Amino acid sequence: MFPTCRVSLQARPSVRALRALRVEHRTSQLGSVRLRSSSPAVVPRITTHYTVYPRDKDPRWEGVEMERFADEADVVIVGGGPAGLSAAIRLKQLANEQGTELRVCVVEKASQIGAHTLSGACLEPSALNELIPDWKERGAPLNTPVTEDKFGILTKKFKIPVPILPGLPMNNHGNYIVRLGHFVRWLGEQAEELGVELYPGYAAAEVLFHEDGSVKGIATNDVGIAKDGSPKDVFERGMELHAKVTLFGEGCHGHLAKQLYKHFNLRENCEPQTYAIGLKEVTCY
Ligand SMILES: Cc1cc2nc3c(=O)[nH]c(=O)nc-3n(C[C@H](O)[C@H](O)[C@H](O)COP(=O)(O)OP(=O)(O)OC[C@H]3O[C@@H](n4cnc5c(N)ncnc54)[C@H](O)[C@@H]3O)c2cc1C
Repeated sequence: MFPTCRVSLQARPSVRALRALRVEHRTSQLGSVRLRSSSPAVVPRITTHYTVYPRDKDPRWEGVEMERFADEADVVIVGGGPAGLSAAIRLKQLANEQGTELRVCVVEKASQIGAHTLSGACLEPSALNELIPDWKERGAPLNTPVTEDKFGILTKKFKIPVPILPGLPMNNHGNYIVRLGHFVRWLGEQAEELGVELYPGYAAAEVLFHEDGSVKGIATNDVGIAKDGSPKDVFERGMELHAKVTLFGEGCHGHLAKQLYKHFNLRENCEPQTYAIGLKEVTCY
């Protein structure tokens, strides 16, 4: 790891110190691995969720009322982000055009629609133009059109400008700088106006299945559970939402999507998931 032959004389003491640190770190890691394998008590529980630790095997849950109230909708959508809300809006637009009664419910785990939407700053409006052509008149919060694009590679002291040609993804002319959370809140208002039922503050916690294995709907989260996974006095069971069609719009790496991957074996023969970290800064001049 540290090729001493290429390290200057002055740097050698630091390299020796780093090596010592690495050995120490490795030994302490080995120690913790040994500890972990011999004593399960040191492994902290990442979750106490009942899908991982079933309640029927937990004596603390004995005698607790577990019946759930169930409601029926035509379409249930999990997640009130841009995807879930756009789907809800489009469904209600089509149903209203055809004069059909369609009950569309959106459950959103944030306490308010848009409150969990932190990312997203530059909005390309072609999908919005199709979904809500009169968005300007309806007061969509797209107030800052992009007037200038600058792209550069930043070094410690300099910026090397990179030309942006039309057609490149960095060319943002015609797009808008937005706060996506505001835009999502506005989408929620449009959905409600069309008759979509929005339920902020309710997280879908479980996918429900019919006996034939198809999706029956979702169950919202139970409340009143202590950190150690035991029921509090105020424990209240979540409710079931059954639907002809359930749409999952939880965003990337969704908790329910992962249940579906398993149930329907959806990731068989897929490329392994890859991850990257990106940094973005929006600057106002
Ligand atoms: C750092 C960053 C910067 C980005 N910048 C841009 C940009 O400049 N321009 C651009 O176009 N895109 C950008 N994106 C991408 C953009 O944010 C996403 O494409 C978009 O938000 C995806 O919408 P979505 O509705 O699929 O998911 P999300 O926006 O993730 O919405 C999912 C919603 O579902 C809710 N939810 C999740 N699980 C549950 C559950 N179990 N029960 C109930 N509700 C649930 C969440 O609270 C959330 O509100 C950026 C993304 C990141 C991470």
